[in-house]
Amino acid sequence: MSSNINVTVVGGGIIGLACAWELAKDGASVIVVETGGSTYGTSLANAGWISPSHVIPFAAPGMVQTGFKNLVGRTGAFAITPGAGSLLAPWTLKFTRSCTDAHVDHCAPALKELLDTSMKVIEGLTETTDLTRTNLPQWYVYTSDNAEADAEHEVELVNRYGVNAKQVDLQSSLDSEPILKNSVKAIVEFSDDFGLDPGKLVEIYRRNCEAIGVGFRAEKVTGLSSTNRNVTVATATDSWISDYVVLAAGVWSRELAKTIGENLPIMPAKGQSVTLPEVIEKPTRTLMLADQRIATNPLDWGLRMSTGFALTSNTDMSINSSASDKLIATARQVLNLPERIEIKNELAGLRPASPDGMPYIGPLPKAPRVIAATGHGMLGLMMGPGTGKFVADMIAGRPVSRDIMKFSPARPRL
Ligand SMILES: Cc1cc2nc3c(=O)[nH]c(=O)nc-3n(C[C@H](O)[C@H](O)[C@H](O)COP(=O)(O)OP(=O)(O)OC[C@H]3O[C@@H](n4cnc5c(N)ncnc54)[C@H](O)[C@@H]3O)c2cc1C
Repeated sequence: MSSNINVTVVGGGIIGLACAWELAKDGASVIVVETGGSTYGTSLANAGWISPSHVIPFAAPGMVQTGFKNLVGRTGAFAITPGAGSLLAPWTLKFTRSCTDAHVDHCAPALKELLDTSMKVIEGLTETTDLTRTNLPQWYVYTSDNAEADAEHEVELVNRYGVNAKQVDLQSSLDSEPILKNSVKAIVEFSDDFGLDPGKLVEIYRRNCEAIGVGFRAEKVTGLSSTNRNVTVATATDSWISDYVVLAAGVWSRELAKTIGENLPIMPAKGQSVTLPEVIEKPTRTLMLADQRIATNPLDWGLRMSTGFALTSNTDMSINSSASDKLIATARQVLNLPERIEIKNELAGLRPASPDGMPYIGPLPKAPRVIAATGHGMLGLMMGPGTGKFVADMIAGRPVSRDIMKFSPARPRL
């Protein structure tokens, strides 16, 4: 790519930074514009899971029933906040219609290619930087009366899509992870999945970007306007012309897309994380408390726990402290945690959720020089590195596979 090509990346979360780095490595002249107020909010608040096994889209058979079961059961993992807005009804309808085997068969190869590409980039980063990862395979632990059947079902489902997962011996597994209580009745191991510190990954991308000459502007993009040759980017005090814009503004991408007449149906799905430094005997791997819908990750500086998927209309990132207390109380059903716990790094995040469970990666139909890189929902951290690669391919004019084309925003959106 010629360095004469200049690209503005809107959004300095994991997706924007990954795109900026790949584009700059390709020779483009790149600036990242980041509001700064909630810098990297969601990209820092997440569980830090890197799960190449997640080839099944969020919109999959059984999800609607599970979602409603959770609403009724009030586990708090899946919820709709009052006044979720006018997008909620069409979004939910599209989501419900997408929960079919045919949709999963259509999406799984594309998600696999994106995840595999991300894995290669992350592998490279662990070799060339101070990024570290958990080394033991991830476990899903089940506690309900249906634990055995649920575990069997999970293994059967993901094996169908080539994911390495198997049930492991309960007693020896509990012995090897003393943090787990005897309430655990079945465990599924995902051999390729691991965890890392999301803050560290973001920091490394930012460092790599700076080292290669990516510029940063701390301001809010207020609008875009586009021709076939370039895009004008506007802020409150300035405007400039770029050859391309990468729209990587997370849940805020929808508002910006509207300024060029595009409807990107992204719903914010709010979640929350806490990190507990007092947990000395941390697990040695990432754990999913499957019946409690809590993801855990042993970071160097404490045990990270995340939960919640509340569809909302607003972009309020405030922290609900009683939700944090509830998260810890629920985790105690499965984990031996110290009686008194100091919470560190309580963070809320907004997942940019598309209704078909697939990210939008590619040119916007009405503004082909605006490349969408958003809508990654629950999987943005693990899909960010691959997204950066494919966005760079698209801008450089290198062909991408038919599967990657499935992420095109030109697909039916609602
Ligand atoms: C509780 C929780 C747990 C999660 N766990 C995982 C996990 O384990 N693994 C995983 O892969 N994913 C996980 N996710 C999802 C993941 O965090 C998101 O998919 C990812 O962070 C999305 O990244 P992003 O860069 O698209 O958005 P963001 O991180 O939201 O970044 C967008 C950036 O754009 C900026 N911005 C917005 N509007 C403008 C504007 N107009 N001008 C300039 N800048 C602007 C914002 O300030 C923000 O910094 C989790 C999410 C949550 C909430």
